[in-house]
Amino acid sequence: MKKYNFNAGPSKLPKEVMEATAAACLDFEGSGLSLMEMSHRAKNFQPVVDETVALFKELLDIPEGYSVLFLGGGASLQFCMVPYNLLEKKAAYLNTGVWAKKALAEAKLFGEAIEVASSAESTYSYIPKDFVIPADADYFHITTNNTIYGTEIRRELDSPVPMVADMSSDIFSRPIDVSKYNLIYGGAQKNLSMAGVTFVIVKDDCLGKVSRQIPTMLDYRTHIKGGSMFNTPPTVPIYCALQTLKWIKNCGGVKEMERRALERAKVVYGEIDRNKLFRGTVAEEDRSVMNLCFVMNDEYKELEADFMQFATERGMVGIKGHRSVGGFRASCYNAMDMEGVNALVAAMQEFEKLH
Ligand SMILES: *Cc1c(COP(=O)(O)O)cnc(C)c1O
Repeated sequence: MKKYNFNAGPSKLPKEVMEATAAACLDFEGSGLSLMEMSHRAKNFQPVVDETVALFKELLDIPEGYSVLFLGGGASLQFCMVPYNLLEKKAAYLNTGVWAKKALAEAKLFGEAIEVASSAESTYSYIPKDFVIPADADYFHITTNNTIYGTEIRRELDSPVPMVADMSSDIFSRPIDVSKYNLIYGGAQKNLSMAGVTFVIVKDDCLGKVSRQIPTMLDYRTHIKGGSMFNTPPTVPIYCALQTLKWIKNCGGVKEMERRALERAKVVYGEIDRNKLFRGTVAEEDRSVMNLCFVMNDEYKELEADFMQFATERGMVGIKGHRSVGGFRASCYNAMDMEGVNALVAAMQEFEKLH
């Protein structure tokens, strides 16, 4: 049976990306060696890193003065690396979910970290709108897409200070104005690559301004200087990321990724709103187009397990909601196609007819 992969992360990748990565793992570009057994310093690997950086800059229209890094440790390590490198006096955080809260908790280890607003009291079902960002903060941290709760900030906010963003789960899903940010980071395993690599886009001149000492491996300048090769980088995940970026470019870039995301979201949310069995879980204006969360309406609550089984029998994978929200979550990252979306909607419609 055909499977439709709605996993929240690691998640669906384009078939071409997996085929190219798998081929390189058997024989890297006709070298007779697997990518897995090659030196990261090999002459034929350097172009992979160079091209990945170049495509990052091209597709996101990254201005001069920014570096693109590929590191280990996941987005979770960035929760501490960001304040380590950027927090001198004070930082401001918008608490929109579990990941944002974790980022804030790490920042508190390094100095004054202020929560400017939070939607925790309503299970993070909306993005707070009225808040004041202190003008003397070193940076304002946001999580653009809240993977667990299904809310998203799909535009650049107004901030009196440079922003820092965790874009783990919506990078490359829309054009962004990188100049508004001092730093953008994310784990690659949602929208960019397989698990194992973390991307960081950092404005070079915001570094070197804190008075504390920074361990070598946690200092962004080490990795800028070393071209992400200070130590051994995750070579296969970087190669996989390069394949995804080529795929995005071939499709028409981030504008086209956005068009597709909006089209998918329109169809799925349209069905959630129409279907008597289901309802969405978050404020309509803050709905994520990457992670679409929904539950059974109260009078049909007891059908939840039945629908899960019904959808699973029709090939749906990974639609169980996060345990803190319950219900269902259809993660529709860049690689999700309308065939998958239509299969999910058809399952929802058929199930409705039975009840
Ligand atoms: C998945 C996720 C993380 C955690 O990423 P790791 O790479 O596992 O550390 C952090 N933030 C967001 C928004 C995520 O979706």
